[in-house]
Amino acid sequence: MTRLVLVLGDQLSEGLSALKAADPAHDVVVMAEVMDEGTYVPHHPKKIALVLAAMRKFAQRLERHGWRVAYRRLDEDGAESIVGELLRRAEEFGASEVLATTPGEWRLIHALKYAPLKVHFHADDRFLAAREDFTEWAEGKKQLRMEYFYRLMRKKTGLLMEGDTPVGGKWNYDSENRKAPPKTIDHKGPPRFEPDAEVEEVLDLVEARFGTHFGDLRPFWFATTREEAQEALAHFITHALPQFGDYQDAMMTDERWLYHSILSPYLNIGLLTPLEICEAAEVAHQDGHAPLNAVEGFIRQILGWREYVRGIYFLEGEDYPTRNALEQTRALPALYWGAETDMHCLSQAVEQTGQEAYAHHIQRLMVTGNFALLAGVDPAQVHEWYLAVYADAFEWVEAPNTVGMSQFADGGIIASKPYVSSGAYIDRMSNYCGSCAYKVKQKTGEGACPFNLLYWDFLNRHRARFEGNPRMGNMYRTWDRMDEEKRDVILQEASAFLAKLDAGERV
Ligand code: FAD
Ligand code: SF4
Repeated sequence: MTRLVLVLGDQLSEGLSALKAADPAHDVVVMAEVMDEGTYVPHHPKKIALVLAAMRKFAQRLERHGWRVAYRRLDEDGAESIVGELLRRAEEFGASEVLATTPGEWRLIHALKYAPLKVHFHADDRFLAAREDFTEWAEGKKQLRMEYFYRLMRKKTGLLMEGDTPVGGKWNYDSENRKAPPKTIDHKGPPRFEPDAEVEEVLDLVEARFGTHFGDLRPFWFATTREEAQEALAHFITHALPQFGDYQDAMMTDERWLYHSILSPYLNIGLLTPLEICEAAEVAHQDGHAPLNAVEGFIRQILGWREYVRGIYFLEGEDYPTRNALEQTRALPALYWGAETDMHCLSQAVEQTGQEAYAHHIQRLMVTGNFALLAGVDPAQVHEWYLAVYADAFEWVEAPNTVGMSQFADGGIIASKPYVSSGAYIDRMSNYCGSCAYKVKQKTGEGACPFNLLYWDFLNRHRARFEGNPRMGNMYRTWDRMDEEKRDVILQEASAFLAKLDAGERV
């Protein structure tokens, strides 16, 4: 009896559990480009093109390796949802059973669970920690701190370990990794892959169907096959990894890549595996090519943070993306969709997001995320924005980072205190402020940096929740030491700024 084997757009790995459970002689792989997946949020056109082009090439690869693939292109007849397409193929092939690797988001898990077909779920084993491993680790713990989970993962995988001890004697070299931006960057960023005829065809389709979504489709340069993604990995290891640690948190005007890997889009759709990336970095250290602070910092992002946020997403359950612990309700300001702003840090982050569907971690956390949190924006709208605009955004990884780490909307499961800062942090870690219409050192009055006003406004607004937090006591003591008149001016100016933002005026 023929069974259908579902392969989703972020499951483009030949070692996928559903494929391993299937029989190429009898079963049919179903892959489908459907409108529902392209529009449940207004995804960036580059992201849609990446997924569709990589899906088409993956389908061909499966066919070369002996699979029968029923592939539906968006411009062909078919259903507009994954389940609809499965039902259509079930009828076509006389099948009633589906093998599926469990999707990375509750929305699709639900859709498959309640589909009128017998769906066999297979655990997604492309991660280094199984969902049950994380649940077991979390059991009975008051606080789920990433650092301890990461140490466990180091021991489990043996990455950067000498027996039971961490290489170099320390688990974490972050204290060496927070350097201010250098004068110049000698790395030109990730390799760019010229679109071939097939990719061009996808680009035309995306332009026609999703051209109104925020973001530039062209120039399109992403890798769309495993071989190209491996090339991007090798390029990063050779050219950027040695400096990765030093400037991991730095931000620079018109420098979008610094020494980041830009591998998340490929990793998250399955073209690369987390283990092969971590092993390549480890070898670079063993060969003396990259220092330990860089390699440990890089491996921690993948082996630690990436696995940890996935664990949280599934542990916390379906309502996680809708949480709003701080009860923030402001609409997402138009500047997130490209309306002009005089805040140079925000205009840099949003502009590069529009052009590349990419911003690095500190831009996401301490510029766009920080501003939304300080301004009191509804976290559901912030979540939708991040899910839409980044090429690497899939809910299992995006929601914990946005709702939890960046917006504190989970009430402190991921972060022990909110990631908020005044302009001083951005000034220290970037060269943005020198080119800004606002003055970072100015606390109030005409031209004062809005982060300086909103920072105190946020702390004041949420005093009842945060003043008892041992990591935030200093902030409240500083606020309380200011004279009352100054505090009033700050709050009034913050309120005037937010009123302008709400009115859609340029800020
Ligand atoms: P590098 O800096 O080179 O890091 C190496 C790899 O580590 C990344 O490719 C990524 O796979 C992993 N990594 C690093 N930090 C994290 C993290 N916090 N969580 C999970 N993996 C991490 N990452 C996504 O993959 N998808 C998202 O949708 C996403 N949304 C985010 C939203 C917010 C508000 C924030 C603050 C962070 C988000 N991140 C997300 C995490 C991080 O910003 C990106 O993984 C990183 O910027 C990707 O760029 P890179 O490949 O150059 O990363
Ligand atoms: Fe951003 Fe303020 Fe610096 Fe301008 S002065 S770039 S708004 S932090």
